[in-house]
Amino acid sequence: MQCSKCRREAVIFQRYSGLHLCERHFLASVEARTKRTIRTHGWMKPADTIGIALSGGKDSAALLHFLSTNFSKRRDLDFLAITIDEGIGGYRDVSQAEELARRYDVPWTTASFAGEYATTIDDIVLRKGDRRSCSWCGVLRRRLLNRVAREAGCTKVAFGFTLDDEAQSVMMNVLRGDTERLTMAPKPAEGMVPRIRPFEAVPEREVALYSHITVGLLPDRGCPYAHNALRGDVRRLLDDYSWLHPSTKYALLGLRDDLAGCGEGSAMTTVICSECGEPTFGPCRSCAVLKEVNK
Ligand code: SF4
Repeated sequence: MQCSKCRREAVIFQRYSGLHLCERHFLASVEARTKRTIRTHGWMKPADTIGIALSGGKDSAALLHFLSTNFSKRRDLDFLAITIDEGIGGYRDVSQAEELARRYDVPWTTASFAGEYATTIDDIVLRKGDRRSCSWCGVLRRRLLNRVAREAGCTKVAFGFTLDDEAQSVMMNVLRGDTERLTMAPKPAEGMVPRIRPFEAVPEREVALYSHITVGLLPDRGCPYAHNALRGDVRRLLDDYSWLHPSTKYALLGLRDDLAGCGEGSAMTTVICSECGEPTFGPCRSCAVLKEVNK
């Protein structure tokens, strides 16, 4: 197939746009959408220090490439790659993230569950089973990443979340009937470093291809506990539905933006947890998780 914009060979077909794109026009399309997302949300301001959540996987590697190559001339921006080691044998390899950060000449730091919580996800699963491993892991990772970013002086933390991740999150909140999360608007909160998602308007398969072209092939280690996530079911459901209705994931992203700020959740403010000293919305979930897994 030929590129819809020039005569070169196409590397991808975008079902939602009906366009075949060659490598050059594909990269331009991803970068234009990502820059537009950043502009629309006002996510990069002079003097920002952007933490990049760098797991070492393809999405975060693509984000590292995009930010460090497209904003390298901005003297008023700093970047810091941050890798959290949850302690999952055969999956998390911090040396891969460190090597990527070095390649793009971005300062890098790491922190581990073992160092912060004196336990690991493998250890927790061994003692408690793996049924709720993803919810424990997510809560503990968020707290640790936020603390590391805040203490390093980051003004934002960028995640490699894609359109698929965002659409799945909206769908999961719908399926749980979680009105509070559906209507909550992100607002500055004391002690919480704001999170940004530059790839939120780019489908996962396009971020994967962008990563493959720009960064190269990376080892694809799946987390051994991923099968426990509700997200997996929602992903299958949405992928099947989107095959027939290609703009569905964009529709869910639009729904998220339309509902943001409509509910009482938008008025929530942080309090400092009396036990761990970290900011939290209401009762501290990470302390609750630590009590539960250490019982
Ligand atoms: Fe943690 Fe679940 Fe992700 Fe594995 S799949 S890293 S357990 S959240």
